[in-house]
Amino acid sequence: MSNSPLVSYTRISPNKNRRTEKIIGITPHYMAGNCSIETCGEIFAPTSRQASSNYGIGSDGRIGMYVPEDYRAWTSSSSWNDQRRVTIEVANVDSYGTITAAAWESLVNLCVDICQRNGIDWVNFTGDKNGVITWHCMFAATDCPGNYLKAKTPALVDEINARLHPAPIPEPEPPKIYPGTYLDERQLGGDMFRLYNPYNGQHLFTPDPQEVESLLKGDWDDEGVAWHMPEVIPIYRLYNTRSGDHLWTISLQECNTCIGNDWTYEGIGGYSSATETDKPIYRLYNAVSDKHLFTADKSEVSVLTTEHGWTSEGIAFYSI
Ligand SMILES: [Zn+2]
Repeated sequence: MSNSPLVSYTRISPNKNRRTEKIIGITPHYMAGNCSIETCGEIFAPTSRQASSNYGIGSDGRIGMYVPEDYRAWTSSSSWNDQRRVTIEVANVDSYGTITAAAWESLVNLCVDICQRNGIDWVNFTGDKNGVITWHCMFAATDCPGNYLKAKTPALVDEINARLHPAPIPEPEPPKIYPGTYLDERQLGGDMFRLYNPYNGQHLFTPDPQEVESLLKGDWDDEGVAWHMPEVIPIYRLYNTRSGDHLWTISLQECNTCIGNDWTYEGIGGYSSATETDKPIYRLYNAVSDKHLFTADKSEVSVLTTEHGWTSEGIAFYSI
């Protein structure tokens, strides 16, 4: 049996017995006062006190341990309960029993940790001693765990269960196509042209002869046909508004991660073969200029990566 790694202070109380039952739940208590975890440890230290808890949480969110989990603490006025549950004393700041946001966060974290280490797959509150979460007042005439934690118990149950079973990461949505932008009505496939701008060190790839024509009137140099494209898998073109870089990717996930993160989606900027051909297009990145380059030429990859500081980012897509 293990103890919580979330503990930052330990003072073992003599008020305990060997645990002889399997841990099946948790009993949150309130301190009926705003004690630090050190003060709480001080209170549980003398045998004359005849009381203890497994853990304590201060209003600053720090977690203390007074009774290791393989021992039964003396917290809930019930040997039956304390043998089967881990008990947690939480500092409260007023007579309603309000606990701080930091204490709440630590309570949730500690409960999740206790569940995970003890094989408790989900928690519930049944309103009686049969629930995974129980209250002190089910076993004795006491206000514990106070009005605040009583009212928040359903939220506690929900939050623990949500963290024990995090929702799967949703499938990325397809990129939003902005109507009327780049290449929407134009014929794709055929040749991918490569241009170079010596003023900002950027390469641009486009299948659009009209775009080539207009760029050549500006700062751009023609570097010829970079590769030939099938019309199978769309390559998404993105523009980085901060660095001025362009990116071409067939990954919807990458596209969606980029969009809104300095990158603007410019439309379908070419096509890749659906199968791995013998003409891969390599993707390179230059961290100094913060620019990407794509090339079908393996010797260019070799020269740029060994002599000019570029990093290979692997195969981007396939030409024909
Ligand atoms: Zn209590």
